[in-house]
Amino acid sequence: SYGDLRNATNGFSSSNCIGSGSFGTVFKALLPAENDVVAVKVLNLKRRGAMKSFLAECESLKDIRHRNLVKLLTACSSIDYQGNEFRALIYEFMPNGSLDMWLHPEEVEEIHRPSRTLTLLERLDIAVDVASVLEYLHVHCHEPIAHCDLKPSNILLNDDLTAHLSDFGLARLLLKFDQESFLNYLSSAGVRGTIGYAAPEYGLGGQPSVHGDVYSFGVLLLEMFTGKRPTNELFGGNVTLHSYTKSALPEQVLDIADKLILHSGLRVGFPHAECLASVLEVGLRCCEESPANRLAITQVVKDLNSIKERFF
Ligand code: ADP
Repeated sequence: SYGDLRNATNGFSSSNCIGSGSFGTVFKALLPAENDVVAVKVLNLKRRGAMKSFLAECESLKDIRHRNLVKLLTACSSIDYQGNEFRALIYEFMPNGSLDMWLHPEEVEEIHRPSRTLTLLERLDIAVDVASVLEYLHVHCHEPIAHCDLKPSNILLNDDLTAHLSDFGLARLLLKFDQESFLNYLSSAGVRGTIGYAAPEYGLGGQPSVHGDVYSFGVLLLEMFTGKRPTNELFGGNVTLHSYTKSALPEQVLDIADKLILHSGLRVGFPHAECLASVLEVGLRCCEESPANRLAITQVVKDLNSIKERFF
């Protein structure tokens, strides 16, 4: 209930707040009855009402399970006597924070900063984890689910650094409940996303799609294996990422990958440079401008697994 959550999060106090994102604010909480540490995501939706169907939709999300998804435990929807609405999603807690913190520790407050950097193999494992869960959402669920907001802050790491995707299904939920603000968000992200994670077609009012997720996954790979944010001038400053591949012939993609390695902060010795080039090539092929030309997620999983076998 709302009361339980308020107590467990210390009245939603800033000391319990662990971050805020596009759709709400996240608090750490200890549920006394279960003695479980959880993450409570308080949503800020514009649409009002429809409390019951909100909960029913959350129930259906609970059935979507995969080892690389952050488990949705329950949802809360309530309204107080003044008519204020409150909606929250309660997830399992991921103790190693988000991938974003691991990729850019210099931007993280000291107390939250990871004590070391990720190795190449750990990065590859995380990439395989994320691609596998996307494959599950895109191909193996009874209706394909596009995540629509894939980025390092949505990839959370467990004790053993297994990657767990968060916010899955939130896109579908919001599309049903608050379509107007969600499509607004997507298209504004698309405009910013020319230098970020959102696929270029979103900026043109395109509907969410699995191809859009593959684009974002490509950006993610380039970021993970160069150590640079997509806004970095390494990727052409405010030139779109896909402009790299737009004009490139297939054989030039490897040259581009080499250039990225040369300019990236990651210093690795041979044969790892070759491994990096292969991963970056996959990333670039996910970032094709035209959705139909991007790799399918099943191919991405195969390619990343065979790179792992070849080099490790
Ligand atoms: P964004 O929209 O940027 O992804 P979120 O609102 O999903 O932001 O989450 C904000 C931050 O809260 C994340 O970057 C992460 O550090 C933290 N967080 C979210 N969910 C969890 C969780 N289940 N366990 C631990 N930390 C979480």
